[in-house]
Amino acid sequence: MNEAVVAAGVSKRYGETVALAGVDLSVADGEVFGLIGPNGAGKTTLVRALTGTTPVDGEITVHGAAPTAVDADRIGLLPQSFAPPARLTARELIDYYGGLYETARPTEEVLAAVGMAEAADSWYETLSGGQQRRVCVGIALVNDPDLLFLDEPTTGIDPAGRQSLWSLLEELADGGTTIVLTSHSMTEIQRLADRVGLLQDGQLVAVGTPPELIEAHGGDSRLVIDTDQPAAAVDALRDADFDATANHTSVVVTAVSPVEIGDAVAVLSEADIDYGSLTWAEPSLEDVYLQLTGEQFAGGKPPGATTEPAASTPTAEPQEGTQ
Ligand code: ADP
Repeated sequence: MNEAVVAAGVSKRYGETVALAGVDLSVADGEVFGLIGPNGAGKTTLVRALTGTTPVDGEITVHGAAPTAVDADRIGLLPQSFAPPARLTARELIDYYGGLYETARPTEEVLAAVGMAEAADSWYETLSGGQQRRVCVGIALVNDPDLLFLDEPTTGIDPAGRQSLWSLLEELADGGTTIVLTSHSMTEIQRLADRVGLLQDGQLVAVGTPPELIEAHGGDSRLVIDTDQPAAAVDALRDADFDATANHTSVVVTAVSPVEIGDAVAVLSEADIDYGSLTWAEPSLEDVYLQLTGEQFAGGKPPGATTEPAASTPTAEPQEGTQ
């Protein structure tokens, strides 16, 4: 497969700050590549480097040429903060930005592609957050790029707007557009990205498909059982060969497959231990992120957790991570 983007030893300093410290990366034609990492990890700087909008050390080729030498109509870029004039309509904005390129897609076609045909005559200011971001994606698409860079495309957008943008990006990917996107939403990355790169302190510390990364770094599934008798519950579960540890008002059992949940519950019932809700979570990309960055999850429940009433059997469906 041809490579759309190849980066080798890409480094960037801002004074004393090392923003990128020797990044090697390749993105294949037609691939959706997700860049994740904590704030300040270097994601935006890497996007800027790959689009040629900031000079860096190292080698970068985009479609075989230096990023600055690539025709403007081949690359689309949606920067993290982009606010077009508020008192222009979606149609006027697409028209205007299209006029800046030698050749541009017809305005109506772009409006339809981003699902903005019906609201095309509304001022940008009066559109919902999701619609606004759709217009921005439309602006990034107006030159009909085959390589699209999106820096946090859905930050600040409500859930419905996010869903509709995800559908749009999936359609673009299905149509063969190569997409590089950054995001703090592991749900978004897990849904959209073929491969994921985790940046930390300017270095790409892990690259792989979501299943590969989860397998390598996600850890085990966990069953959390609320109970007033955690110590007794742990004893009973360990006697039955479960890997159980006690929390204040719960027990965490690791490496439990969905079919074993019933067995764990039976152990508690036989030992006459009362329990409340059961929460089972498969490892997700969020676990990978937390594991590799060393950050803590800001809630009591494990990421990706689903809570089931005690009486019912928790689902074996893979669960999406929380935001
Ligand atoms: P991310 O997008 O992952 O949050 P950035 O690429 O924005 O990370 O930033 C990486 C590092 O470079 C941070 O320490 C940031 O403060 C610094 N940085 C980014 N842009 C500039 C700039 N224009 N001037 C000085 N420092 C910058």
